[in-house]
Amino acid sequence: MTSATMLKPDHTARRRYDLFTDEHEDLRASIRRFVSTELTPQIDEWEASGFPDSVFTRFGECGFLGLDKPEQYGGQGGDFLSELILCEELYYGANGGLAMGVGVQVDMAMPPILAFGTEEQKQQWAVPAIAGERILCLGISEPNAGSDVAAIKTRAVRDGSDWVINGTKTYITNGIRADAIVLVTKTDPGAGYDGFTLFLVPMDAPGITRSKRLEKLGMHASDTALITFEDVRVPDSAVLGTAGKGFYQIMWELQGERLSGCAGNIAAAQRAFDLTLEYVKTRETFGKPLGRHQALRHRVAEMAVKLEAGRELTYATARRMIAGEYPVREVSMAKVFTCRAANEVVDECVQLHGGAGYMREYGIERLWRDIRLCRIGGGTDEIMLEVVGKSFGL
Ligand SMILES: Cc1cc2nc3c(=O)[nH]c(=O)nc-3n(C[C@H](O)[C@H](O)[C@H](O)COP(=O)(O)OP(=O)(O)OC[C@H]3O[C@@H](n4cnc5c(N)ncnc54)[C@H](O)[C@@H]3O)c2cc1C
Repeated sequence: MTSATMLKPDHTARRRYDLFTDEHEDLRASIRRFVSTELTPQIDEWEASGFPDSVFTRFGECGFLGLDKPEQYGGQGGDFLSELILCEELYYGANGGLAMGVGVQVDMAMPPILAFGTEEQKQQWAVPAIAGERILCLGISEPNAGSDVAAIKTRAVRDGSDWVINGTKTYITNGIRADAIVLVTKTDPGAGYDGFTLFLVPMDAPGITRSKRLEKLGMHASDTALITFEDVRVPDSAVLGTAGKGFYQIMWELQGERLSGCAGNIAAAQRAFDLTLEYVKTRETFGKPLGRHQALRHRVAEMAVKLEAGRELTYATARRMIAGEYPVREVSMAKVFTCRAANEVVDECVQLHGGAGYMREYGIERLWRDIRLCRIGGGTDEIMLEVVGKSFGL
């Protein structure tokens, strides 16, 4: 390279993040191909009807439900980054509802089964879930307890060698279609954080009712359920992990879910940004393209800064995660930062599209409806700030 070429910035060069190896990049390319040929063309239809269960089967065939899962259970044996890449590509090229439904399967419900489950539970549920033959959901939230997980009321009471479960879970993604639920219950109300137990329960167990399919602002391709449990009797073998340790186990689960969500949300906002960049280059007002008006050019630049900062914070935290740390403070920081940044960016993209931003055909309004969830689901902005603040001893 001559000094003349070296001093010229090359803004079109492809950005390569050193966190990812060549294998990761190959994986990204193959997922991107799959998404653009098999998912993107269906987005509008699935936005209206919900995505079909066969998506899980197809993902299973492709190995996409077990990228970071152990080979002995049918997974690909990859690292957390391979899962992060899947999340990014789904949020970028498919739609939020589909990405969330798949995310619940691979990032929320499966990790506790693989980390804490018995061999029998792994064979019965993780293996078919990785193959795409079974669908999973995760039940933490209740009508009266979301942010305050410790306030849940769903009780599991011992009865001989069985447990009997009563309670209600709400906002459960995949809850309408799931074959099994990873369920958070209270088993000893007097024991504080040591009084929670996870169960792995088949959804066809007597006493379980999918009471309602909930209507929502965005993420329309996914299903969201209210589920009631009335004297649901399960054997002791349905306990997932250690009885009494469920609170810590579910808090552990939330860290991976939140971090891959950070990557997904930035990817969704990047999609909105890319569409908007194209738009402001072509749409003209007052004799020139929108992007040539300085005030708007600066707003595009502000968006790019937010995306870059959010992505770097996510990757920096992922680096710590794969190094074996348990960086709860940093995951919380990344979640609140990326969710706010992604919402600000997508909202700005609607604005820069003018009336077109409000219309279905441009795709921006769907991204805007979908992205709003990330500041609420999996731990709200406020709860993330609580975690960060308390981590300083406050
Ligand atoms: C589409 C969708 C899908 C979901 N999928 C699932 C799922 O699959 N499984 C599952 O278990 N849950 C799921 N959830 C639930 C989600 O995780 C909860 O909605 C979320 O944790 C917030 O709980 P909440 O709705 O009860 O709000 P609340 O806890 O009632 O909070 C209301 C508001 O008060 C704020 N707040 C509460 N306490 C404090 C405090 N101490 N300090 C400051 N502010 C506070 C919150 O941040 C929020 O802004 C889903 C939710 C949605 C909308």
